[in-house]
Amino acid sequence: MKIIIDERCTGYARAGHPENPRRVADTVARLQGQTELPLTWVAPGATVADEIILRAHAPELLARLEVPTDLDGDTPYFENISGYARVSVTAALTALRAARNGEMVFSLMRPPGHHATREKSMGFCYFNNVAIATLEARATGAKRVAVFDFDVHHGNGTEDILLNQPGVEFFSVHQNHAFPPDTGAENAGHNCFNYPVSPHAPRLMYRAKLAHALDDLRSYRPDLIAVSAGFDAYVRDPLAESLLLPEDFHWLGQSLRALGVSFFSLLEGGYSEDLPELVLAYLKGVAGK
Ligand SMILES: [Zn+2]
Repeated sequence: MKIIIDERCTGYARAGHPENPRRVADTVARLQGQTELPLTWVAPGATVADEIILRAHAPELLARLEVPTDLDGDTPYFENISGYARVSVTAALTALRAARNGEMVFSLMRPPGHHATREKSMGFCYFNNVAIATLEARATGAKRVAVFDFDVHHGNGTEDILLNQPGVEFFSVHQNHAFPPDTGAENAGHNCFNYPVSPHAPRLMYRAKLAHALDDLRSYRPDLIAVSAGFDAYVRDPLAESLLLPEDFHWLGQSLRALGVSFFSLLEGGYSEDLPELVLAYLKGVAGK
């Protein structure tokens, strides 16, 4: 199992913000402190070229990141945030390459990406890592790419960018009315499928919805799967009202593995102190342990 990591991803922070460097730092410490799952730590490599980012985003979005004012109430401006966000995109592309080599891989980076639309950074996200990697996969030979998003919030940015793109299907399981962005109640276009779950829904109901989405994903017969791995549907997460347990994230990893298709996972949300345990449970599932 490869873990993509770069210390620059902990280089920016705003006091009191839930999307903070500790999320990654504590997870690194937990993963380094365990021996059940052999891990290889990999750096993202040379920074992504703008032309790859521009497949997913308008030039205006890149220019906006150089303007030193907050993007929105959730999404602060930081000096060199475009640089930090580029490293996270680069890590996603490195994960894509590893998956294509048949390796198990997880990008343990921030900022997350799935709320960033073509035109707008929002919801803690600056560039849409998973959408950029998906379009790169398509541009370099993948015929059918599925994106599976199990973050508790709707992947509105991913949907916006991938809507009606040929050779791509998007499957998002999320809590209904979770904010941001409070979208994703209905399917969109011919290729974006949304599976909203009510707040406080029984855990097994949530899991049944995840299983349903994975069944639909399997029917698409993808040759590659990109996973937006958010861990905020966890019962103790402060930003949502869902009830999943660590074993459910283990089951998610197992279920993706059982599809028998190459896949790579990118960290999205997950704001509880237990995030390290949730990531480890997921990775064990991915590894068949
Ligand atoms: Zn989320």
